[in-house]
Amino acid sequence: MLGLMQSQQLLISSLIDFAERHHGEGEIVSRRVEGDIHRCTYKDIAGRSRQVANALDKMQLSFGDRVATLAWNGYRHLELYFGVSGSGRVLHTLNPRLHPDQIVWIANHSEDQVLCFDMTFLPIVKAVYARCTTIKHFIALCDAASLPTDSGIPGLQSYEAWMGHQPAHYTWPVFDENSASSMCYTSGTTGNPKAALYSHRSTILHAWAGAMPDALNMSARDSVLPVVPMFHVNAWGLPYSAAMTGAKMVFPGPAMDGKSIFDLIESEKVTFAAGVPTVWQMMLGHMQQGGLRFSTLKRTVIGGSACPPAMISAFNDNYGVEVLHAWGMTEMSPLGTVCTLKNKHLAMDASQKMAVRIKQGRGIYGVEMKIVDDRGDELPWDGKAYGDLLVKGPWVIREYFKGEGGSPLINGWFPTGDVATIDPDGYLQITDRSKDVIKSGGEWISSIDVENIGMAHPAVAMAAGIGMKHPKWD
Ligand code: AMP
Repeated sequence: MLGLMQSQQLLISSLIDFAERHHGEGEIVSRRVEGDIHRCTYKDIAGRSRQVANALDKMQLSFGDRVATLAWNGYRHLELYFGVSGSGRVLHTLNPRLHPDQIVWIANHSEDQVLCFDMTFLPIVKAVYARCTTIKHFIALCDAASLPTDSGIPGLQSYEAWMGHQPAHYTWPVFDENSASSMCYTSGTTGNPKAALYSHRSTILHAWAGAMPDALNMSARDSVLPVVPMFHVNAWGLPYSAAMTGAKMVFPGPAMDGKSIFDLIESEKVTFAAGVPTVWQMMLGHMQQGGLRFSTLKRTVIGGSACPPAMISAFNDNYGVEVLHAWGMTEMSPLGTVCTLKNKHLAMDASQKMAVRIKQGRGIYGVEMKIVDDRGDELPWDGKAYGDLLVKGPWVIREYFKGEGGSPLINGWFPTGDVATIDPDGYLQITDRSKDVIKSGGEWISSIDVENIGMAHPAVAMAAGIGMKHPKWD
């Protein structure tokens, strides 16, 4: 006997519809490439997302066609998140830290039709456009007045001119929730990059689980600063979870230095921020130098690489900010585990709590995990035995885009390439990686190669000025 409840497709358009209706005045604040602070609301984002959808229809883009972005975290990128996926196209977030040759390879492999880019990345686009054979439309995320006349890119349009004259009414199409919604390439395995292709269903379920109290604990009372990039694994799903909960969003744009991030946290009363350890290192350094304190920040989720215990203590002991150490990967949308304490830990002393907090945390509902030995036999959850970490769940990859690399699964489980222990309370601790690989996103900000991609923009130089790495290209 089947249940008699309504069967409604889980579609990304429903998130922005919800945010508009229930949190229409909710703020979206963005530091722009231009350097100023831009303010709008969920109502504005909803209307402009529908304008994007109309503009894509006008281009006669088909259902499932890929629309690429090369963009920082900001309101226009957010409009593309909803307008592209909501209208049935696939949002392909390109990673600007990659070498131009890699970007060309990836754009051709994904058969992108449109590329929307922040002006910061104009030098990259100039370097690649002629070799991106499937892209028919180049759109600069700026207004018409800021569009360079001599870009050399044929038919280059400004975003505002492209979507600004479109009607703000649009009826979001209803389709199978398993349809693709967005994609992200990862270089995390051997061979060419491969894309994780997320669906509307996987994205909504991931956002839902991510917003829960023992995960990222997001609510309409939060002001959320994703320093994790929207160009890598959808900024850990935060744009979707925020729309689902009505949280205020604060976008840092290209300014990732300690001062800019700290100032934004204070001026926008940020309560929750997400970033990789290197970003927080810069900010904590800035705060220490100036003897600064937070007035609103309550918690920060840190992942992408292991969070040093000293950073957890600095946030917790010096500033009263809870660190949620999290683990995940591109192939998992990305959230797998988040380290939140259980009731039994609350009475523990600081050092005992720290022994828990340094772990990558407990699997969130929806993610099953196990560790196995060389023969594939499951190992105990005793906190000592370590083995290859396998996962499964509704937002874990089944296969890569175009079936690249064959089926990655082992009896239905995805091998993460990480080696871990799991303790009796279910806390995962990453101890190693089983393969020597360079991942595409985790510590992205330390790796933007300014010289290599020829970016002279001061904001990028500022954001990128802490290191250089040439990603491996097998
Ligand atoms: P990516 O798919 O590029 O986002 O990289 C995912 C990989 O980053 C994982 O497979 C881990 O190896 C690593 N990673 C992510 N979060 C953590 C963490 N909290 N601690 C240690 N490694 C992490």
